[in-house]
Amino acid sequence: MTKGIMILQDWWFTTLMGIKEPIRPPLRGDIKTDVLIVGAGAAGLAAALRLVGSGKKVVMLDKNICGGSSTGKSAGFLTPDSELELSQLLRKYGKNGAKDLWEVAARGVDIMVDNIKKHKIECDLQVQDCLFLGKGDSGRKDVEDEVNARKKLGYSSTMYKESEVPSVIGSKAYSGAIRYTGTYGVNPLLYAQGIKQVLLENGIEIFESSEVLSWKDKTARTHLGSVTADKMIFCIDKPKPEVTKFSTTVYHAQTFLSISEPLGDKDVSDLFPQGPLQCWDSDLIYTYFRLTGAKRLLVGGGDMMTTYAKNDTTVPRVIDKVISELKEKIPIIRPLRFIQYWQGRIDMTRDLIPTVLVDPDHPWAHFVLGCVGLPWATFCGDFAARNVLDDKEVDNEKYYRYFSPSRKFFLPLWLEQLLGKRIVFTVNNAWAKYRQKDAGKDGAVLDAMVG
Ligand SMILES: Cc1cc2nc3c(=O)[nH]c(=O)nc-3n(C[C@H](O)[C@H](O)[C@H](O)COP(=O)(O)OP(=O)(O)OC[C@H]3O[C@@H](n4cnc5c(N)ncnc54)[C@H](O)[C@@H]3O)c2cc1C
Repeated sequence: MTKGIMILQDWWFTTLMGIKEPIRPPLRGDIKTDVLIVGAGAAGLAAALRLVGSGKKVVMLDKNICGGSSTGKSAGFLTPDSELELSQLLRKYGKNGAKDLWEVAARGVDIMVDNIKKHKIECDLQVQDCLFLGKGDSGRKDVEDEVNARKKLGYSSTMYKESEVPSVIGSKAYSGAIRYTGTYGVNPLLYAQGIKQVLLENGIEIFESSEVLSWKDKTARTHLGSVTADKMIFCIDKPKPEVTKFSTTVYHAQTFLSISEPLGDKDVSDLFPQGPLQCWDSDLIYTYFRLTGAKRLLVGGGDMMTTYAKNDTTVPRVIDKVISELKEKIPIIRPLRFIQYWQGRIDMTRDLIPTVLVDPDHPWAHFVLGCVGLPWATFCGDFAARNVLDDKEVDNEKYYRYFSPSRKFFLPLWLEQLLGKRIVFTVNNAWAKYRQKDAGKDGAVLDAMVG
């Protein structure tokens, strides 16, 4: 097995070389606007795009560059499937609730892909079906559950029995698989930077390296300036208590990624006999992989010890192990060398559903927090902006209930004082994913969830 030395660097940053304007100057001085958007990840960018052409003056601030945090570190899987699979949503929310939430993420995928096509954004958009791979007996059951959930909700899919899996992936190590369409791969940092250009061309003012350190009434302050706005939409990650008291609703899970040297054509067809797919397996801390347009293999995963760690883990140990285990399962990739790795802590909530709210004490301020997945973030940013525009076509009541900060969780927040944040989060998270049940009446969990 060839083992090279990898460097710690987000591959997507490498692909920014040569783009028109990778960095905008920071905000200097005091300005006024109609709408201020803080945070330019998938959520903030979707909010800003929604406001284009609305007649509102819009300013956007990011402490890094557009897409510089989770969005630009992500693996770029564009799928409605995130941390919660459809069968889990079905168990948790019943048929109507599961459909509502699946469609949230599916709508997020559509918004992103429509915008990429409409604005001709060069971000390596790949049409890539999903392949969820079962491992062992429990994984076989997970695949069957997923197939049944999709049938129940009227979504099509193709199931592969153990003996059929090698027809789609060059491995005999999986016990079953389910495949479905309507999903894509994307270079998420080029996507963010492409949307940035569209926004700039449409008159939106963007300042990077401009962290909002505090805000009072309608004025937000950065280290060199301030913005006074009628409305504010905060789409930030790792929120600090001085920026919002709802920072307590946000937790993190760490995941690791690595990119390989390009594969040859023969290796690609051996790896994906029916064409490239985006794959992940049925493990609790799952391994995921897909091919980029340049035929590099992107592999991601983690381990139990570091997923809920408080600080970033920067050594290659975790991803090295993920790659070695994947190589055991897929012989074709054994000689493949991986050249860069990076990690990121994904913001999430205790039940993996985002928190979106209008601040009751400051009704001009919206918050979009803890979105797990680019499509969820995109939907929620767009949703918040539509609310600012007073768009009557959106079912506000429904979504604000799903995304309410006061929904109930298995273990309450105060237990963190006794048990610590990590333990309470892990238990709540596992409960939401594996145990929480709709109480029989469709949507009953939702009714019981909001206090
Ligand atoms: C390694 C990794 C792999 C992933 N893979 C996938 C995947 O394949 N598919 C998928 O759908 N999802 C994936 N995700 C999850 C996905 O990236 C996130 O859920 C999504 O990007 C969240 O978008 P966001 O806009 O809510 O947050 P972010 O992208 O984190 O954006 C928030 C922005 O706010 C800015 N900010 C924060 N505080 C301030 C402040 N005070 N002032 C100004 N700006 C501020 C930050 O700089 C940042 O740009 C992955 C995440 C990671 C880390």
